[in-house]
Amino acid sequence: PEGYRTEGSLTLGDIFIAVKTTKRFHQSRMELLLDTWISRAREQTYIFTDEEDDALKRRMGDHAIFTNCSAEHSHLALSCKMAAEFDAFLASGRSWFCHLDDDNYLNLRALLKLLSSYSATWDIYLGKPSLNRPIRASETLPNNQTKSVRFWFATGGAGFCISRKLASKMVPWASGRNFLSTSELIRLPDDCTVGYIIECKVGGQLLPNALFHSHLENLQLISPSRLTQQVTLSYGVFENKLNVIELSGPFSHQEDPSRYGPPEMGDRENLQLVPLAMVY
Ligand code: UDP
Ligand code: MN
Repeated sequence: PEGYRTEGSLTLGDIFIAVKTTKRFHQSRMELLLDTWISRAREQTYIFTDEEDDALKRRMGDHAIFTNCSAEHSHLALSCKMAAEFDAFLASGRSWFCHLDDDNYLNLRALLKLLSSYSATWDIYLGKPSLNRPIRASETLPNNQTKSVRFWFATGGAGFCISRKLASKMVPWASGRNFLSTSELIRLPDDCTVGYIIECKVGGQLLPNALFHSHLENLQLISPSRLTQQVTLSYGVFENKLNVIELSGPFSHQEDPSRYGPPEMGDRENLQLVPLAMVY
């Protein structure tokens, strides 16, 4: 939408946003996203899931992509979805690929602002480093020997973005069936495989960015005054405790029933989560 045009020439239409989900979360997680940030970016957002769902199809049309990937949390099932996301991005001709999980809140304005400071004709890989050091993995070589590799990767649960220039260099390892075989080479999940391809195969580098957030970090440490600058937020349960952004917003639950929080927490009445009105 015009309202999201920034000073540069980048618009939302230049971005391909892929959301990974699974049948089990269509209602509990996707509905929340569809009612909130996706409603502002319907043309840019594509949902990758594993089972046909008329309700999802009704709302997203051909932007609901039913992959043939299995509905498992296995490395291969998840890599199968990442491969589908990557291929759909390549076919889209858009400038930026951004991957998100279905428990991510995406701040469209902040995303545009961030990507505007780079060019999609450069090799750009932006996200939150999963660890505070490179991961070590063992790569299987054709002669059945192994090689030790080290690389940084952006945690998929915080969302990450890749420029078209870099994505086009990833094609030999990431397109079609190649993503699955690359993922098998290091036997690590989809987001690690992306980092491995970029850093070990293409020679690119993760640009760590503190505006991406997953529920693996303590979300209460994000200062409320900086909330609207963050690109992604998330929510979850960590060590049996609710890990959400607590805010005493100006709106009551009745006024803003779409407060962003874990649907699995049941009664959200007493929780102070991210009031969406804050982020818009
Ligand atoms: N997911 C999936 N298939 C599964 C389980 C999860 O595609 O069998 C997706 C889920 O929809 C989400 C992401 O993988 O987008 C991460 O799942 P979740 O948040 O449940 O787990 P986490 O790894 O964050 O603890
Ligand atoms: Mn999650």
